[in-house]
Amino acid sequence: MSQTLKPSLMDFTHKELEALITPKFRAKQIYGWLYNNFAADYDDMKNIPKSMKEELAEKYLVNPLKIAKKEESSDGTIKYLLELQDGKTMEAVWLKMKDEQKDESGNICQEAKYTICVSTQVGCKVGCTFCLTAKGGFTRDLSAGEIVAQVVTLKKDNDHKQSRKINIVYMGMGEPLDNLTNLTKAIEIFKEEDGLDIGGKRQTVSTSGLSSKIDKLGEMDLGVHIAISLHAVDDELRSELIPMNKAHNIQSIIDAVKRFPIDTRKRVMFEYLVIKNKNDDIGSAKKLVKLLTDIKAKVNLIYFNPYPGTDYDRPSRADMVAFQEYLVKHGLLCTIRDSKGIDISAACGQLKEKQDHLSGKIEGDI
Ligand code: SAH
Ligand code: SF4
Repeated sequence: MSQTLKPSLMDFTHKELEALITPKFRAKQIYGWLYNNFAADYDDMKNIPKSMKEELAEKYLVNPLKIAKKEESSDGTIKYLLELQDGKTMEAVWLKMKDEQKDESGNICQEAKYTICVSTQVGCKVGCTFCLTAKGGFTRDLSAGEIVAQVVTLKKDNDHKQSRKINIVYMGMGEPLDNLTNLTKAIEIFKEEDGLDIGGKRQTVSTSGLSSKIDKLGEMDLGVHIAISLHAVDDELRSELIPMNKAHNIQSIIDAVKRFPIDTRKRVMFEYLVIKNKNDDIGSAKKLVKLLTDIKAKVNLIYFNPYPGTDYDRPSRADMVAFQEYLVKHGLLCTIRDSKGIDISAACGQLKEKQDHLSGKIEGDI
């Protein structure tokens, strides 16, 4: 984080807060205000002495984010444009994964399930040719507190109690592994049992494939899932789509995945962005099956979401289904991602920090 920016209380683990705030019980109270009550500011912290709050306020923000704009889709997806203390903006998305279930008498027997898609950077350095985020270039890394605050802010805004389970996907703006230090700190803060209590298995880090960093994340053994944005089965096309594939080619990614500590009951997710006439043919499906032979993998096919100015096209539904059927027939688990929030451009690859971009409505049946 640049020196001019003030850290926030959400940059610290409970233990670190105890080192900063004495006596210990005050650190515990403040921790409770942050993660049980989702305090937005020091004014909310009723039982903390005024002098202590004034002292802390000089050094630390409480929640470093402000909601600048909120758009709700017809499917329950909510896209948030969040403003940082330096006026930069980025996005986080609230996704409804499952509706609540009621029994015969109309009582709720299963609560609705939600996932939060978080950003890790303002912009991105990787420069994928199909990605809208890449178009704006790279501005800066988010701090751990700015990553944590996205979840706190969205839970609070949706009145989602601390104790309710939530999943996190690091699939918003930015390349998570390019901000590894702050990412892993945020993962640890999320996992704290007396805080948000979001276990590693509820967190999925999506990466464009920085293989050396996949190894580093694996060595830390945080229990998180990884999703690999593969998108192509040969290095030539992959390097066209993801320029840094030249440095981290497909084989190096596959090797890193094989070394990654994975819960034996789980599978590694491979995201495959399907672009018309680029990688939507059965020949590619065949190569994909071969590539993933020795890996406990599942494949998530994603329709390319077009946006004004892109050279790529959305594949046909028929080609998508044929691709999926080929993979399934050859023993791979494969789903087609239903892009949530498409009517508000909250779907994958449509996150861009500028407010003026949010107007385009994209029609689609995915
Ligand atoms: N940087 C990370 C995570 C953020 S991108 C990564 O690349 O994995 C999240 C997902 O959206 C990635 O799988 C990415 O490839 C995909 N994506 C990017 N642009 C897209 C687009 N225009 N249409 C559909 N998916 C896209
Ligand atoms: Fe960055 Fe991911 Fe977009 Fe590539 S797809 S430019 S890695 S955010």
